[in-house]
Amino acid sequence: MMIIAIDGPAGVGKSTVARCIAERLHLPHVNSGDLYRAVTYLAIMAQYLSPLREEAIILLARDLTCRIVEGVLDIDGIPSLSELHTDQVDRWVAQVSSLPEVRNHVTEKLRTLVRESGGVVEGRDIGTVVFPDTPYKFFLDATPEERARRRFLQGTSSLPYEELVKEIRRRDEIDRNKPLGALKQAPGAVYIDTSDLTSEAVCEKVIQIIRQ
Ligand code: C5P
Repeated sequence: MMIIAIDGPAGVGKSTVARCIAERLHLPHVNSGDLYRAVTYLAIMAQYLSPLREEAIILLARDLTCRIVEGVLDIDGIPSLSELHTDQVDRWVAQVSSLPEVRNHVTEKLRTLVRESGGVVEGRDIGTVVFPDTPYKFFLDATPEERARRRFLQGTSSLPYEELVKEIRRRDEIDRNKPLGALKQAPGAVYIDTSDLTSEAVCEKVIQIIRQ
């Protein structure tokens, strides 16, 4: 049973790379950010965010039900994973995922999800907290400007480029300073600077390292 941990900051291209690796190795793909986004989405729907109702949000995380269907994550109450990538969810998700009890629930769910099948799991703390024992750990990186440029070209955000850079820096700041599950390279993880690489090249590099 093989677990591949892919960590790195927002917008670095983890999802494209993780999907590519999962396809090549016939493993399920799980984006842990989708679980944090799902809790945030449900909290927005229930109006638990301003003011922040921590206890209610923690219960949403506890009761989140998800499974893998044909290699892809499926979450109850979420019409489609694309609903999770709105500016509004982006705006709140770092705060929701800063709550330690939300993190503990999501960590447990991630472990259960891939316990039998293995998988390519991406996020911020997969190598450090969720699966520290896997030998396959990778940390992808790129500058905030490059990540904003990629997100801008995706066309999924309504924000202008300069605002995207600010938003990415703001999220980095929160992600790096979380009391639990902060973004950092795990001991033994392979660091890959993706600034000048295509996602195919990064995918290939990861697969080569795994097969060594
Ligand atoms: O990866 P993505 O940007 O979709 O994740 C959404 C947010 O969820 C991140 O900005 C981060 O705040 C949070 N997250 C986290 N830990 C993870 C994955 C995501 O805190 N393992």
